[in-house]
Amino acid sequence: MQHDPQTCQASQTTAPVGGGQWTWWAWCLWLPACVGFAALLAWASLEIGRHFSPLLVFPLLIGLVLGASLVALMRLGQMGHRPTAWLAVLLSVAAVVVGQHYFGYRSALARIKREDPIVRRARQVFGDLVQGDLAPGPRNLADYLQQRAAQGRTLRTVFGTCTARGPWAWSSWAIDGLLVLLPAVVMMGFALRRPFCGRCGSWYATRRRGRLPSEAARRLAEELQLPAENVTGGAWYRLICCNQGCTPTGFSLSCKKPVAAHSPEIVWLDDRRRDRVIKILDQSRGPQ
Ligand SMILES: [Zn+2]
Repeated sequence: MQHDPQTCQASQTTAPVGGGQWTWWAWCLWLPACVGFAALLAWASLEIGRHFSPLLVFPLLIGLVLGASLVALMRLGQMGHRPTAWLAVLLSVAAVVVGQHYFGYRSALARIKREDPIVRRARQVFGDLVQGDLAPGPRNLADYLQQRAAQGRTLRTVFGTCTARGPWAWSSWAIDGLLVLLPAVVMMGFALRRPFCGRCGSWYATRRRGRLPSEAARRLAEELQLPAENVTGGAWYRLICCNQGCTPTGFSLSCKKPVAAHSPEIVWLDDRRRDRVIKILDQSRGPQ
């Protein structure tokens, strides 16, 4: 996903364009780290799900945790290659969905192994009576899923409890997967709207923000050639730039509420204009 060049009328400075470059480390280290985290989340969600798993809400919560974690990993690792970030979302969601079933399968095998000596002893005592009641263990993951679908999945809804069998069980798993995917895609989509500095290879982050008194807001509006009447009651500001402070620097001034770091209302400043804006911000704090 590439950012379209945007030109700020006030400063004629273009917004940072594009994302980071494709790198080996992102594929060999960052991507496996994301998938590894997703596998860990699959295991944790299976354990938590044994005690607490409200229908539809639980997969959405898992998707939120996954999305937030992937965005945090992307920022921490300063991974700016957007296609790699999307690939990480897809692979991680797949790892969560398949991982949950896989860990369920492993735990079913472990249970059978645990119960096996007890069943064998019961067979010695009761003979064929026990043999008839024994269910064969799953041969592999696909076999385990088919067995679970045939047994049926109990769904507890506000309207009562029902059992989804066969294709309905498969459909309910598919819906769970989509509910994990949805929040992760939305969160990554928002995170990738933030600009990335290709020069020093870092995501733009908020360096300063806060509320300005009306005088400072008026001076800034004048500096940025924005309508001054909007900021007579003071304004919120946000200053964003990359780790090394390469230009352009993003700045927003809003009379209503703070503007998000990826908002199109951000105006882009060159070195000279940035220094003047910072000077006004410093002066608004009081005498230096
Ligand atoms: Zn930079």
